[in-house]
Amino acid sequence: MIPAEKTMNIGIAKPYIGDAEKQAVMEVLDSGQLAQGARVKAFEEQFAAYHNAKHGIAVNNGTTSLIASLMAHEIGAGDEVIVPAFTFFATAASVLSVGAKPVFADIEPDTFCLSPEAAEAAITDKTKAIMPVHLYGHAADMPRFKAICDKHNLALIEDAAQSHGAKIGDDFAGTWGTASFSFYPTKNMTTSEGGMVLTNDDEIARRLRMIRNQGMNTQYYHEVIGYNFRMTDISAAIGLAQLERLPAWTEQRITNADYLTETLKSVVTPVTRPGYRHVFHQYTVRVKEGVNRDDVVKRLNERGIGARVYYPRPIHEQPVFQKMPEYANVSLPYTAKATDEVFSLPVHPLLTDEEREYITQEVNSIC
Ligand SMILES: *Cc1c(COP(=O)(O)O)cnc(C)c1O
Repeated sequence: MIPAEKTMNIGIAKPYIGDAEKQAVMEVLDSGQLAQGARVKAFEEQFAAYHNAKHGIAVNNGTTSLIASLMAHEIGAGDEVIVPAFTFFATAASVLSVGAKPVFADIEPDTFCLSPEAAEAAITDKTKAIMPVHLYGHAADMPRFKAICDKHNLALIEDAAQSHGAKIGDDFAGTWGTASFSFYPTKNMTTSEGGMVLTNDDEIARRLRMIRNQGMNTQYYHEVIGYNFRMTDISAAIGLAQLERLPAWTEQRITNADYLTETLKSVVTPVTRPGYRHVFHQYTVRVKEGVNRDDVVKRLNERGIGARVYYPRPIHEQPVFQKMPEYANVSLPYTAKATDEVFSLPVHPLLTDEEREYITQEVNSIC
C-alpha cells in the first residue's frame, strides 16, 4: 500500500533517449552526412527485417507515410477509402489530402479497431482501399481484411502508427498490406519525427521511393509527382538505437498492462484477442455504466496521473468534416459509445513498480 497522502507525477508517455542514441547522433553530425544516407538505408533494412517485411521506405513522419502509401496505390480524386472515425485525425486527413473521400465505418466494441463487416458493408464502386488502424497497439482483424480486399480487388493500407511489433499468430501487423508507421516521440519507439512504410510489393516499394524523393527514378529524371518526404540520417541513427530497445520495451509494456488488468477493479479493462500480441501503445479502459468519464480523468489528473482520452471526438464530427454536407448524417454507434467511455492510463516501459501500484490504487478509489 502506498500511503493515501502521497502523490506522484506520472506522464502518459515518457520518451527515452539514452547514451546510444546520443552517441549515434554525434557520429552523424561528425560525418557531415546529415540528409538521407547510409543510416536511413540501414534503418529501413533493420526495421523491415524485424517485422519480416521485404521493403522499408523511411519518410519524415507518420502522416507523410500515409499520404505516400495512398499515392503509391494511385488513389486520388473520385476514389473512396474506408477508414474508422475512432482514430487519430491523420488517418482520415491523409485520404482528403490526396483528393479522395474518406468513408467512415464503425469499430468493433472489444478491440476498438475498424470492423471488417462494417467496412465491407461500406464498399461502393468507387472504393479503392480499406485502411484499418491497429489502434492502441492491438492489430485489426487482418486475416478478414485481407480476404475482403482480395475479394473486392481493393488495396489494403494499414495505419500501423501505434503497433510496432504487434502480431497475429506469427505474422506482424504491418505485413498484410502497405503499412504506415510513425516514430513520433510518444510512439512505442521514436526517431524524433519520422515514419516508415513497409511493403512486400516490389512495385509499390519502387513508387514509394520515388514519391518521397521528388518523384525521381534516377537523378533528375522525374517519373511521377513526388515530394520531399525524406528522413534524415540524424533521425535514422536515433531509430537504429531505439529499434534495439524495442523488444524489451514491448515486453515491459505487456507486463505493465498485465499488472493493471489484474489489479484494476472498477473499470472495463482492455481485451487481447486469442493469438494476438497487443503491444499496448496505450492501455485503454472504459468506465462502467453510469460513471462520468471526464470527471474520472479530471480527478486522476489532479492526483498526478496523466490519464488522457484518445479520442474525445470522432473524426466525422470534427469541424473540418462538419463543413462537408455528406458527413452530417454519419451514424457510428460503437464509435460514439467508445468516445464517451474510454480513457488511457500510463503503461509506458519506464513505469516503476511503485508508480504502477499508485495508478491502480487511485483508479480503484476514484471510480
Ligand atoms: C501518430 C499517428 C499518426 C501520425 O503520425 P505522425 O508521425 O505524428 O505524423 C497517424 N495515425 C495514427 C493512428 C497515429 O497514432
